[in-house]
Amino acid sequence: MRFIVTAGPTREHLDPVRFLSNPSTGRMGFAVARAARAAGHDVTLIAGPVALRTPPGVRRVDVVSARDMLAAVLAELKADLRHPTCLVMTAAVADWRPARCAKTKLKKGEMSDTLKLVRNPDILKTINRSIRRATTGVPPVAPIRIGFAAETGVPDAEAARKCREKGLDLVVGNDVTRPDSGFGTSTNRVTLVTPDGRTQRLPLMSKLAVARRIVAFAERIASNG
Ligand code: C5P
Repeated sequence: MRFIVTAGPTREHLDPVRFLSNPSTGRMGFAVARAARAAGHDVTLIAGPVALRTPPGVRRVDVVSARDMLAAVLAELKADLRHPTCLVMTAAVADWRPARCAKTKLKKGEMSDTLKLVRNPDILKTINRSIRRATTGVPPVAPIRIGFAAETGVPDAEAARKCREKGLDLVVGNDVTRPDSGFGTSTNRVTLVTPDGRTQRLPLMSKLAVARRIVAFAERIASNG
């Protein structure tokens, strides 16, 4: 199977030296890419700005903003519509960007105290729309879609809502305020939520072990058709 994995944060620049972002380090997404490749899959990793080495055998595409990430995901999906594909969106995509990005560094005197923001596109929702268009009249090989829900608190309810709203096959929820499952940790404590409403809480595991569970889940869906 082909895996397209997004990882890390996005950066939303207001000028070449200032941006909005979040603390994602990309470790969970890189672990998914590593686990998928180790299981023999063809893997493309679309990474925001992170300081991690590409896992062996994985093709990497670097991006900066949410809009870059959307364009890269669409290009990868369109490059091959025939092979079974699994899209794993581990990236912590910035929901907002500054309404304007200056070409050169803004002088302090040129900046106001308020920043006008606009919404970024939702990558998963955009993919859903483009799949509906692309598969009309052709045998649909819609990608398996797996998302993450990083929450501050018990993630189950939000993960279930995101699963429904974003039309996902699996949502992996975690509480980023816990010291063992936040940004940049090597372990994660996750809840798996599926569209049938089932919730499975997994014990504390390495991110690589969580990644292997995600890959195995996608393999099971692919083999059940
Ligand atoms: O940010 P949120 O909690 O809604 O993220 C849930 C899932 O949606 C994640 O898998 C994330 O990668 C994805 N997402 C997206 N496009 C966005 C924001 C989030 O695809 N603009």
